[in-house]
Amino acid sequence: MFWADQIVEDIEKAFPGKKSFIVRDEKTPSGRVHIGSLRGVVIHAIIAQALCEKGYDAKFYYEMNDADPMDGLPSNLSKNFEKFMGRPLKDVPPPDEKGEPNEAAFEKDPTNNFANFYAAEFMEVITNLGFKPIFYKSSDLYKEGKYDSWIDTVLEKPNEIRLAYKEISGSEKREEWNPLQIVCENCGRVGTTTVVSSTGEAGNKKVVYECEPHKVKWAVGCGHKGETTPYKGRGKLPWKVEWAVKWNIWPVDVEGAGKDHSASGGSHDVAEKLCREILGKEPPFYFPYEFFTFGGAKMSSSKGLGASAKEVADTLPPELLRFLMVRTWPHQTIDFDPSGQTMLRLYDRHDESAEAYFGRSKLENISLDDLKRAYHFSQVDPQNVPNRFFPRFSRVAFLLQIPSLIFEEEIKKLKGSELTAEDLKEAQQRKEYAQIWLKKFADENSLFTVQDSLPEKAKDLTADQKDFLHKIADLLESKKWQGEELHGAIHELRKASPLEAKTAFQAIYIALLGKESGPQAGWFLDALDKKFVVTRFRTVS
Ligand SMILES: [Zn+2]
Repeated sequence: MFWADQIVEDIEKAFPGKKSFIVRDEKTPSGRVHIGSLRGVVIHAIIAQALCEKGYDAKFYYEMNDADPMDGLPSNLSKNFEKFMGRPLKDVPPPDEKGEPNEAAFEKDPTNNFANFYAAEFMEVITNLGFKPIFYKSSDLYKEGKYDSWIDTVLEKPNEIRLAYKEISGSEKREEWNPLQIVCENCGRVGTTTVVSSTGEAGNKKVVYECEPHKVKWAVGCGHKGETTPYKGRGKLPWKVEWAVKWNIWPVDVEGAGKDHSASGGSHDVAEKLCREILGKEPPFYFPYEFFTFGGAKMSSSKGLGASAKEVADTLPPELLRFLMVRTWPHQTIDFDPSGQTMLRLYDRHDESAEAYFGRSKLENISLDDLKRAYHFSQVDPQNVPNRFFPRFSRVAFLLQIPSLIFEEEIKKLKGSELTAEDLKEAQQRKEYAQIWLKKFADENSLFTVQDSLPEKAKDLTADQKDFLHKIADLLESKKWQGEELHGAIHELRKASPLEAKTAFQAIYIALLGKESGPQAGWFLDALDKKFVVTRFRTVS
């Protein structure tokens, strides 16, 4: 069974008779969002989609947690941001093009802030993939007072919460610790403050707090002491408590958590315990999910490629990026290195799923159901999926490197019949992304340039190699060949010669490309002008 269908079945068992569901996930926009953060979005969105398609009313809420403090400085930003460390991300200016804090823009319009700057780019990626979560900001919930009654609840039970932290995660809090922080009225930081006491009745509480110079390593508090009400965004819950509270605001029915939060004794365990024992509510249906990593450090530094969600999304069609994440069960790691041949294989697997979906799969002895479901959930618009021809991506990348070819003609040859408007659209899209792939990811084996004149290296060919090339020239002149058939005939020629396969094919590539390897010989010679190849092979001696 496809993973999303399995999770939907599990949700049905957990909530018998329930008809509507709220699915939720979140991200703290503390810098450029890494591609890994897209995995949570995709898993939750697909579950919501699968629920809707089964007749349930399911809504997917996605939170941008802009009330969290700035607790680290992204390496691409100026040290001039350090003075803002500890402030809520929504109260930090956005960076300008040079990575400096753009204080003028922020003063003019406070929605032009650090959190929104990075959230906007990530939201665009999410939307372009066809997902339509209901986006909201954590700070808006605070401002609207949605947290206020829960702040009252947790302020009544600091000791119980302190003990829950200790029991589950082993973390010790000071005895005067209260599960709340206040945005300092003097310096605006929240990460540096500690609430030391609270008084008053629910709805009318006051807290005393300190802004401590040495509370955290990443920010310096101003030393201010004050008393204030904790409501309407003045106070902020520590995040494990906040997590448990958030589940109850909507309330949330389904919410998974990434591996980093899912360890035993980790933050999810703490939040679950707080939810049950302090807030007296059942936590949402939960599933852990694994990491999604993209490319090695070597690749990123050598080609200057980043692995932000935006950068990766720019290198793959939306359906392919969805397919990459959708085809794998949430509990399995996705470790995708786009260099070498990996991307070509991803397209091939995608096309296998498409063939299954359109009922023309040539795969045998396997169930096609999961392939069809993976293809369905990879669609940006699942209501409108035109049946079309998918030219193999490796062939497209190959064709683009032979400038003499007319692209559309070659695609028509591959299909074996006239191209429809949808076929053409697909071919054009593959062409665009193949150009990106050739530029960014392709390795030496996939890159080639047909040389205008006989390469220097061809002088070193042996007599047997030259003879082999002459025989191929004869073969080409003897009749009109097709790629596969020509490939077979060249292999027969080679077997009849004294040459090893490797040395024989090297002769072809050296004579045409000036290097020892290249694309599959049959396709390659078939794609080139016959007269050109014959002349070239006859001039080797
Ligand atoms: Zn302060």
